[in-house]
Amino acid sequence: MKILVALKRVVDYAVKIRVKSDKTGVETSNVKMSMNPFCEIALEEALRIRESGLASEVIAVSMGPTQCTETLRTGLAMGADRAVHVASDAVLYPLSVAKLLKALVEIEKPGLIILGKQAIDDDCNQTGQMVAGLLRWPQGTFASKVLLDKEKQVATVEREVDGGLETLSLDLPAVITTDLRLNQPRYATLPNIMKAKSKVIKKVTPEELNVEIKSDLEVVEVNEPPKRKAGVIVSSVDELIDKLKNEAHVL
Ligand code: AMP
Repeated sequence: MKILVALKRVVDYAVKIRVKSDKTGVETSNVKMSMNPFCEIALEEALRIRESGLASEVIAVSMGPTQCTETLRTGLAMGADRAVHVASDAVLYPLSVAKLLKALVEIEKPGLIILGKQAIDDDCNQTGQMVAGLLRWPQGTFASKVLLDKEKQVATVEREVDGGLETLSLDLPAVITTDLRLNQPRYATLPNIMKAKSKVIKKVTPEELNVEIKSDLEVVEVNEPPKRKAGVIVSSVDELIDKLKNEAHVL
């Protein structure tokens, strides 16, 4: 069984985000970019499944500009067997990514797709659900534990929901999106980073996949969130209640 893992290149989680002066988006030039943390977890899970003998190949895919190949090289250095870059300079919203993934699924025929539950740049939390919908595959989102039964072709997914933990049984092929507590991703070792530099990354375009990139969405303006006001220390419970009632108007 093959596993397809979607890796998004995003602004590194430790970078302080700056909005462009013309308010058209977030500044990305001269900013450190990295693999989306939830995608690292997705790749780690796929590698563990392959290492336990339940999958034969892990294919990493990233969509976007040329620099996505850096993210894919990190994926190869972590242990992915192959990498596919869907090259596009267009803004890729979740529905476009989901359509491209569906087109790749038709070529690669994986038994499982693993994605991050959300990308930390757009926080959409949509792509996994959309690709499952387009493929009509079962989905286990926000997975905190995944168990595969190769005989029965079933994935058991434990997921974190508001009320606690929910356990789902998914018939393969299926789509899984990863939550933070699923695993601790490995670091790529230096020898593996060096080896990954010479690996071939397959490049395809949306046109070759017969996917038209278009969107009904338009970003009108991007603004910094309002600055938080400094807090105050109150001297009594009465003063706190008074402030909540008369200043914050929440009581
Ligand atoms: P989102 O729905 O945008 O929050 O993204 C959820 C997940 O979809 C990410 O963690 C990735 O696994 C996948 N994904 C989204 N955009 C891309 C992209 N451009 N390339 C590869 N994977 C992506």
